[in-house]
Amino acid sequence: MSTTHPPAEWLDLIFSQTGLLGRFLGAFEERSGQKEMARQILIGYAEEKIALVEAGTGIGKSLAYLVPAVYWALKHQEKTVISTHTIALQEQLIHKDIPFLLRTMDADLKAVLVKGMGNYVCLRKLGELQSQPLLFSSEESNEVQAIERWAERSKEGSRSEIVFPLSPGTWEKVAAESDTCNHVHCPHYKECFFFRARKEAEDAQILVINHHLLMADINARRQTDFREEKAIIPSYERAVIDEAHHLEEIALESFAASIDRLYLNRLLAKIFSEAHPERSRLFLIRKEFTTLSPELQHQLDVTLPVQKKECAALVENAFSLFTHFMETELQENVPFGREWKKRITPEMTAHAYWSDPLKSAFKLLVDHLLGIAQSLLALDAALETFKGTKFQEALSQHSIEIRALVMRFEQQAEMIQQFFSEEREDQRVRWVEIHPSNVVLVDATLDVSSLLQEHFFSRMRSATLCSATLTTNRGFSFVKERLGLKEDLSEQIYDSPFDYAERSLLLVPTDFPAPTDPQFNAQATFAIRQAIEASRGNAFVLFTSYEMLQQCYDKISATPLAQKYKLLRQGQLSRRILLEQFKENDGSVLFATSSFWEGVDVPGDALRCVIIVKLPFQVPTEPLVQACTERMEKEGKNPFNDYSVPQAVIRFKQGFGRLIRTKNDRGCIVCLDNRIIKKGYGKVFINSLPPCRTSFVPQDKAWEEMRAFYERTLA
Ligand code: SF4
Repeated sequence: MSTTHPPAEWLDLIFSQTGLLGRFLGAFEERSGQKEMARQILIGYAEEKIALVEAGTGIGKSLAYLVPAVYWALKHQEKTVISTHTIALQEQLIHKDIPFLLRTMDADLKAVLVKGMGNYVCLRKLGELQSQPLLFSSEESNEVQAIERWAERSKEGSRSEIVFPLSPGTWEKVAAESDTCNHVHCPHYKECFFFRARKEAEDAQILVINHHLLMADINARRQTDFREEKAIIPSYERAVIDEAHHLEEIALESFAASIDRLYLNRLLAKIFSEAHPERSRLFLIRKEFTTLSPELQHQLDVTLPVQKKECAALVENAFSLFTHFMETELQENVPFGREWKKRITPEMTAHAYWSDPLKSAFKLLVDHLLGIAQSLLALDAALETFKGTKFQEALSQHSIEIRALVMRFEQQAEMIQQFFSEEREDQRVRWVEIHPSNVVLVDATLDVSSLLQEHFFSRMRSATLCSATLTTNRGFSFVKERLGLKEDLSEQIYDSPFDYAERSLLLVPTDFPAPTDPQFNAQATFAIRQAIEASRGNAFVLFTSYEMLQQCYDKISATPLAQKYKLLRQGQLSRRILLEQFKENDGSVLFATSSFWEGVDVPGDALRCVIIVKLPFQVPTEPLVQACTERMEKEGKNPFNDYSVPQAVIRFKQGFGRLIRTKNDRGCIVCLDNRIIKKGYGKVFINSLPPCRTSFVPQDKAWEEMRAFYERTLA
């Protein structure tokens, strides 16, 4: 444990009106919450603790955690990794907040944005493509040429710099990958974009990453016994997790194994493609090694292509048996053209069809995948005879690719075996996803808390988890339970400095039908029209289902309201353009779901009303939700109160938080789901909000109050 406590006056020098921020930031306003938050985090660094921080909108939380990170780098030369959920926040940190702070503090530190390997172009792969024009189609050829020209003058070699149109398939062919990279042995190692970025990250004191990369690093370290060279992020012991309310969800996603029919087909096509034989690895080897033995020729011309063809047929058969099992044996109504998910239950695995033909078909597929891996290993060993000959360069290229393929085939075989094993039934959840043109089997760990504890939190000397929405009912018990955080915690809520009581009004119509009532949708459509008229537009209408959004939008679009206000719908245009249009057109109304409940910043009068149609509970039939619920029941817990409600509260707080973004903002939040006042758990929602004014009245009165609110504020 470090004994150096940060000097209290040091923070005063920064976070005061007459301090550094006051002098350098024109619009700086001293907020005790910001300084106290920085102090809590600094003490966490010094006492090697995990700090849980909820910082209400307007606290200035990024500067509050950046100052301690900078202090610790200057004083103790220790690196801090800052992980966020959204790109917008990463960009704000790396392009705005960190440069500003370093200038202000006159600190000579390096901060970099770390991206995953797949974001960088691999010069070895690009070179191989240049010498093998047959590897791609004529359309891809134009894209590859454009990438070549770009790579010659690119500074970072990162995909985000590319402005010309590029298909994902072409990028996949040139993107760097860990299993096809031979590191220091690569002839391009010195100029390699990824390793240059990696070196920058090693030298930097502040690393900005996203939660997916954080989890990928944790996974890579745990799978390779923490071998540093296999890690994705340079070694670190100090972390700040912003937007921490997403950490569990991203961990669940990252620790899950997926078996994907399309991916398996793409993998098989890398060996040999009947449609384009000239684009496959076997063809290249056959073409380049002109003095192959008859046995090797037979392996390349016959054995492997036949194995590939048989394996591709087995993939199709196994996955179509899954669809057949769902539709015919279990009589499930699988919708056409839409994604559909079904949890694998003990009843299903007890069904005769599960063991035969379904499991047997996948067992056969596993045998063939391993058979291909064996043949590829044999091919690699046979090609070794060309070592030290004029074919040496071609040999090393092919050898890397072949070994990477072997690993991928073995991994797929192992994942299928795991999926069908009956182990750890109480700790995992399995489901099948049927997409319009794909089938995916998912095997997820139910509880990521022990994994995070063992492989992340216990490795950190200090960690800060912060968000504007980390608590429910003014406490951290939910996040602590979900992430397995128990000891040595420092917990604090810093309320928003904005005057919610004066500037916002939460309205809940009391005479509304329950969301399960058949009349709810029709009444909601009518109520949304009333609310839009009262606020004169500039409103977000937040839904929990896309179907309801669409129905409601269609109905309102057919009314005279559509002439008066610009009605926008999620899905109509890209998220960025929708938001631009919303901000630019006074009187706009945006009908949106999931991704607009958070991470959207519309300051000022452009957004003065948020209508929440239903409380954002997760769908109870979602496999993960179902499995968590059952597990909690077995543990004697109350899954509704301890899991469903807190999750919905955090989401609700996010939706609520869209309204007031600056101290001058004002507006109404209308919640049409009156379970918030009629059910006992509704109090948890209301107690978790900033202290706004509330009005729970019949509809007529509610619209009247809204009109009066806006008449006062818009006058
Ligand atoms: S070092 Fe690895 S990522 Fe870089 S160019 Fe070589 S193979 Fe590609």
